[in-house]
Amino acid sequence: MMDDNCIFCKIANGKIPSATIYEDADFRVILDMGPASRGHTLILPKQHFKDLCEADSTVSAKLFPLAAKIGKAMITGLGANGFNVVQNNGSSAGQTVFHLHVHVIPRYEGGPAMVSWIPGKANAEELTNTADIIKKHL
Ligand code: 5GP
Ligand code: ZN
Repeated sequence: MMDDNCIFCKIANGKIPSATIYEDADFRVILDMGPASRGHTLILPKQHFKDLCEADSTVSAKLFPLAAKIGKAMITGLGANGFNVVQNNGSSAGQTVFHLHVHVIPRYEGGPAMVSWIPGKANAEELTNTADIIKKHL
C-alpha cells in the first residue's frame, strides 16, 4: 500500500526520479541525497510501513540479504573496506522519514568516525533486571 503523502513511497514506486542502483518487486534501492560517505544507499520497500515494527515480516526478512548484496558491491565496486547497516525507528533514534528504510553506508580506510557511541557501564544486576523487563515484553 502506498501513502500519497510519503516522499519515500513516491520514490520507491518511481513517481519521483532517483539514483536507483537496484529494483525488484519489493524494493527500490537508491543513493541518499545527503550521503555520509560516497555510495551511501537507502533500501526502500515499495509498500509503506512507518518503521520496522509495522513491517510485514516477509518484506523485512529480505532486508539483510539485500543489504549484504549491496555492501559486497560497495567493496568490490567502490573500494570500500567495510560498511554499516543502520536502520532508525522513531524520532529519538534519528528517524526523519517515516517510511521504513535501511541505510547501507560504505566505509573507507581513514574515513571519518560515524555510527559510534561512548560505551557506558552496567553491572551484572542491572543487566539481569533490564533483560528480565525486555523478555517479558517479547
Ligand atoms: P533517517 O534519518 O530517517 O533514518 O534517514 C533519512 C535519510 O533519507 C537521510 O539520510 C536523508 O539524507 C535521506 N533523504 C531524505 N529525503 C530524501 C530524498 O528525497 N531523496 C534521497 N535520495 N534521500 C533522501
Ligand atoms: Zn511511504
